[in-house]
Order: sequence, then C-alpha cells, then structure tokens
Amino acid sequence: MELRKDPITRSWVMTGDESTMGGPRPEGACRFCPDAPDATQVISAVPATSGWSARSMVHPAPLYHIEGEPGRRGDGIYDRMSSVGAHEVLVENPRHDRQLWSASDDEIGQFLRLAAERIMDLKRDPRIKYVSLYKDYGSSAGQEFGHPSSQLTATTFVPRRVLYELRAGREYFSQKERCVFCDILSQEERQASRVIEARGDYVALGPYAPRVPYETWIMPRNHEASFERTGLSKPGLRTNLAALLRRTLQRVRTVTESFHLVLHTSPNSLHPSKTLGYWKTIDDDYHWHIEIMPVLATKARSYTFKEVYYSPVSSETAVKQLREAKIDG
Ligand SMILES: [Zn+2]
Ligand SMILES: [Zn+2]
Ligand SMILES: [Zn+2]
Repeated sequence: MELRKDPITRSWVMTGDESTMGGPRPEGACRFCPDAPDATQVISAVPATSGWSARSMVHPAPLYHIEGEPGRRGDGIYDRMSSVGAHEVLVENPRHDRQLWSASDDEIGQFLRLAAERIMDLKRDPRIKYVSLYKDYGSSAGQEFGHPSSQLTATTFVPRRVLYELRAGREYFSQKERCVFCDILSQEERQASRVIEARGDYVALGPYAPRVPYETWIMPRNHEASFERTGLSKPGLRTNLAALLRRTLQRVRTVTESFHLVLHTSPNSLHPSKTLGYWKTIDDDYHWHIEIMPVLATKARSYTFKEVYYSPVSSETAVKQLREAKIDG
C-alpha cells in the first residue's frame, strides 16, 4: 500500500493491491480482553484501582507503519509517498460489554484522557502532521473488532476533510476575525432549534447542512483548537463531555445501531508544515469537535464516509482487468 495524491483535489489516497494472505481472524477469543492469550503489544494504559481502565495497543494489521521516512517523491506531475505513520487500537474499556453508551462517565472519561495522551505523544514525532481518532461501529459501518474500541492513525499528511475545514476556518477568520465554529455555536444556541443537548462546557447539535440523516456534532462551547490540550488540562472534559458523549450515542442508537465517529482536532503545531499556510492563525480559527455520522440501513449504499479513501485494488490492476474484460462491443 502507498499514498498517492490526487493532483486536482490535493487529497491523499491510500491505494495498492491488498494481499489476500491471512484473511480475517476467526471469531472466538477476543484479543483485547484482559485475559487474552495472545495479547497485542500495549503502548500505553490508564491505570484504574484494579488493573487498567483504557489502553492503547498496536493495530494487529496496521495501515501505517512507524519505521522509515515518508519518502515523498514526484512521479511526473503526481506525488506519492509510503504509508509511514502509526496505527493504534484504543481499547475503551477492559470489559467486553461496556460500550461508550453503556459505560460509566468515569470510564468514558478515562478513555478520553488516554486519547488525549496518545494524540499528544504522537505529535512529538516531527514526521507526523495529523492524528485522527475514529470509531466505526456496526457491521454496515465497517466495525473491525468485537471489543469496545476506537482507532487512532498518525499520518504524514492532513486528511482531506480536516484540510477543508482548516482552509475554510482560516478564510472566515481572515474576513471576520472570528472563529466560524464559535459563530455557528452562538447562532445555534440562540436559535436553539438544532441543539440536542448542552452539558457544562459542551454542546451536541445537528449541523445546519447534514451529510447524512441524524448527523451530530459535539463541540466545546469555549473556543479551543486542540482537543488534546483541553483533555489534559480541563477536568470538565472527563465529566461533562463523557456524559454528553454517552447520552448522544444513546440517542443515535434509537435510530440505528451503526455509526461512524471522528474527532477533528488541530494538526501538529509542534512541528508546523512549511508549505501549508494555516499554521499562523490556527489557534484562533480552528475549533475541535466530534462528528457522529449514523449509518442508516436503507441509506447505507448512498454514502460512504472515509477520512482517508482506502482503495484495495490499484488502478493498474483495475485498468488491466477492465481492458481484458469481455464486452459486447
Ligand atoms: Zn474483549
Ligand atoms: Zn471557536
Ligand atoms: Zn469536522
């Protein structure tokens, strides 16, 4: 697998011919339960009174590998690089049956703390431009593991949706000297017709222009570009945000089982990019948030959501196959 840049949209795509070796792991013993016989390597854990409360592990089949250099290079007018980065599984809870909507607020708070710590830690690597935290739940959302877990990828590029948001945030700020997310929040709180719930410093709302039915955002009320900075300094994140997240997921689950959840936070400003200009005002014009995209059974085919497109067949193979396909003329 390698990363290729679309020269028109400037978004990176992961592509290549996926090996068919190995195949899916047979159902049975959970590799993330505390007593797993073949436990994966643990990277970090949040200690609890007995054992651990949340921990991060190496993804058993990582999309990104930590060794090496991205080796970004030209290919005629194109750009490509190897998939250098990190890919971790964040085990949200030691118990196999405690999901983010059924765990205690304290447990969810521990998971949020772990997420903030891991993002902060991965950003110390100067090769890393962005860290994504996401969760796919339910078979139609591409859930990978039975154990309550989220995933985290650290990449040498900023995923395209976040890049669009960063550009838009910077543009809005340059015109109005205000954060577009703060402006959205203040109008939503004033109008109150799309606010689902507010809890302390956090609000859950339905966006004005949703991409899927029941799309939901959770945002801090006070301006803050970086989730991990808040997560490690403000205690409210671990109480109010935990409760709001739990309650919001419960609401979503009255509509559908399956959903995608993604955290959008600021890129790695410890090691700013020299080519992308959004770094100068990023603390003023970006505002972290969580997006929840429910997957409705009837609508499942009409929309697929990916932070980074993943194409398990290379164009070369696809073109070859198309060329050799038997057609009617
Ligand atoms: Zn388990
Ligand atoms: Zn803001
Ligand atoms: Zn976003």
